[in-house]
Amino acid sequence: MTPIKIGIVGLGKIAQDQHLPTLRSNDAFELVGVASLENQLSGVPSFSDLQSLAKAVPDLAAIALCTPPQVRYEIAREALQRGFHVLLEKPPGISVSEVQALLQLAQRNNVTLFASWHSRYAPGVAPARSWISQRQVRRVTVSWKEDVRVWHPRQKWIWNAGGLGVFDPGINALSILTHIIPGGLVLKEAELHFPSNCATPIAARLSLSDPQGAPIDMELDFLQQGPQTWDIVVDSNEGALKLSMGGKLLSFAGTPASIDDTPEYRALYAHFAELVHARRCDVDIAPLQLVADAFLCGRRIEGIPIIE
Ligand code: NAP
Repeated sequence: MTPIKIGIVGLGKIAQDQHLPTLRSNDAFELVGVASLENQLSGVPSFSDLQSLAKAVPDLAAIALCTPPQVRYEIAREALQRGFHVLLEKPPGISVSEVQALLQLAQRNNVTLFASWHSRYAPGVAPARSWISQRQVRRVTVSWKEDVRVWHPRQKWIWNAGGLGVFDPGINALSILTHIIPGGLVLKEAELHFPSNCATPIAARLSLSDPQGAPIDMELDFLQQGPQTWDIVVDSNEGALKLSMGGKLLSFAGTPASIDDTPEYRALYAHFAELVHARRCDVDIAPLQLVADAFLCGRRIEGIPIIE
């Protein structure tokens, strides 16, 4: 099949760490250009915005949108209006209504919109989902704790409105949870800790439940020193399952499971290629909706300013 001619918009950390290497080793796509405010890519036509990229590369067919979330809607809207298929990095927008509007636009223009959730492609997630589907969930505990200074140095957008703060990684946990626990989760309470100089939280505790009423407790922390944890433990009527390292590792009652090791972004782009060829959309707003709910009903606690 002819490769899909794709451009990357927003050439920052995730584009360079994951999108570029994945596209370079993927016959389903051909990287034909990039657009980023400052960054350029040696050997690939580089522009400062989508308009210039689209003008210079007439057979461009798809865009991977890897900017910070605050500018994603306007760029995605323009791309969809030009008839491009669009992959949105997570989170798909700064509000639920933005994402719903983009989905309608994509459907009207008969192009693909893929609101990607990369953590759902972590190798432990599919087997965890299948195991849980045969059992009754009793309790879920999520511990998502990392050091923002290590993982997000100089990313000021995280602390501005729409940047999500600790929910930038936390929404990855929610994307896994909403995928492996059947039936839709309900947010009941939230506690959000804001540094006095930031518009977004640095820590959070969420209480949710599954449709059968099983409690789900979630702790998010952006100032974790020492070991970093991206763990989900699911207690069921037939023992416990643990996803760790953001879904890369899976164990049952402490015994590691042997799982497929396809990298997340390879699986994610394989799905995007299928969607493009079928001109279908895949837009699940559930993780973003839960974050929006936390901001809607969460108790706000203000703390000391963060100094980076
Ligand atoms: P980042 O390092 O700050 O990169 C964002 C890039 O977007 C910057 O390089 C910036 O360009 C570019 N940009 C900003 N505004 C733009 C605009 N209007 N038009 C074109 N380019 C623009 O951030 P990141 O870590 O890559 O994160 C980006 C998104 O990916 C976030 O939504 C994040 O949640 C998600 N994500 C990140 C990771 C991760 O590990 N970091 C993992 C998965 C998903 P210049 O540098 O050229 O000025």
